[in-house]
Amino acid sequence: GSVDDGKSTLIGRLLWDTTDLYDDQRAQIAGESAGGVAATPDFSRLLDGLLAEREQGITIDIAWRYFDTPARRIVVIDSPGHEQYTRNMASGASHADVAIVLVDARHGIKPQTRRHAAILELMGVRRVVLAVNKMDLAAYDAARFQSIADEFGELAVRLGFAHHLAIPVVATTGENVARRSQNMEWYSGPILAESLDAAEARHANLTHSFRMPVQIVLRDGADFRGLAGSITAGRVRVGDEIVSVVSGRSAHVTRLATFDGDLESAETGMAIVIGLDRDLDIARGDVLAIEPPPAADEIVARLVWLSETPFHREARYLIRTASDLVTLEHAEVTGRIDLHTLDVGPSAGANVNDIVVARLSLSRPAALEQFASARDTGSFLLIDGLSGATLAAGVAITASRRAVAEVRRPTSHRTTYLLTREALARGLCRDLGQGPADQAEFERRTEELVRILEAAGIVVERPGGC
Ligand code: GDP
Repeated sequence: GSVDDGKSTLIGRLLWDTTDLYDDQRAQIAGESAGGVAATPDFSRLLDGLLAEREQGITIDIAWRYFDTPARRIVVIDSPGHEQYTRNMASGASHADVAIVLVDARHGIKPQTRRHAAILELMGVRRVVLAVNKMDLAAYDAARFQSIADEFGELAVRLGFAHHLAIPVVATTGENVARRSQNMEWYSGPILAESLDAAEARHANLTHSFRMPVQIVLRDGADFRGLAGSITAGRVRVGDEIVSVVSGRSAHVTRLATFDGDLESAETGMAIVIGLDRDLDIARGDVLAIEPPPAADEIVARLVWLSETPFHREARYLIRTASDLVTLEHAEVTGRIDLHTLDVGPSAGANVNDIVVARLSLSRPAALEQFASARDTGSFLLIDGLSGATLAAGVAITASRRAVAEVRRPTSHRTTYLLTREALARGLCRDLGQGPADQAEFERRTEELVRILEAAGIVVERPGGC
């Protein structure tokens, strides 16, 4: 929601009505409202800590709040929707099973609402609830609600959300939040708390085939070599044949080790160490999988541009996948999503908060696949090769392997950095003399610099003994 739509009040209300808050929290909220004679407690106070952070301009990530209903544990990820928090919103959405989009009944769906919906879709959220708040200020008018619900319905169908629902609510009084409103008897659909209880968790789906990005390779000093990571999709059992996506080679699982002992099978969300019956020469960045598509080096992606620094064709970019970091050989923006029509129009650039379509060529194949079939191994961050800053979050629409002939692109357009001994002696190494120790240090710094530049995708030429 936008500023003042009632996000804090709604979340506070939900916590107040559905959970056992600590007494001091209750006292604080009730007592501080108008000196204790409060008609309506100020529920947004429950979130005051977070608001204070925002006001001070501290970079907050996303705030998590837990509560239990009779049916399940719910985690509320509070990620405000104003433009400057787009990155938080995208980050929050990437964890969510259900999104609640809030609008003020008096204002209805705004361009921002459309942008939020498009980001939710981009981040793979398939269930969206539109909370039409402040119905009291819209005279509890059924027709007003219906026109907003219809507009949202069209948007939801357009974006392909699997489940969408609009609910008329009053956050301050809690109507249709955790109890049904007497003032809106014309509404017979589920109220907010019911809709959350009924929602299916995104990760409950274990029908996807197994994926585990390798975070680290563990050795016990003797024979055991284990591949550690968290399972991002599906399930694996001892004896299964699994494939290293990067090399395409396969082996059988001999052990599934955890901190609490060995298992016969493990599934999505678990952190495990996998032992294999043969050495596949796997490193961090690889993904272990059952029946995966091959590693890809050509990605068509959708990106939400998070940085104030716009896209630049000639810039050096890297992408960070679940556990890998790969330089891009070429990046090109081909279109931009118009947030009014949600159509993709032509565009060669990307500015902050834009959602664009881009074609990305990786310098080597990596374990990246279509987001539609595997969220965690189909999404990535776009990183500035020089500053290391995160510029965009992306999902792969298609991921493929270039034909071999295409891989050898002419490199003439690439920036080559000429690293001379003189330049180093004048700058980075000017404190060093001619003695053997200083010369060794000279070499060390040179190598370090070359490594950094090359990691950023810059070709380094070193003429005459540098
Ligand atoms: P946020 O900026 O989206 O977190 O909005 P707040 O929760 O701080 O609410 C902004 C203002 O709207 C506060 O004064 C709330 O009391 C008021 N408000 C929130 N929900 C409702 C509602 O359903 N009805 C009415 N009348 N006021 C509301």
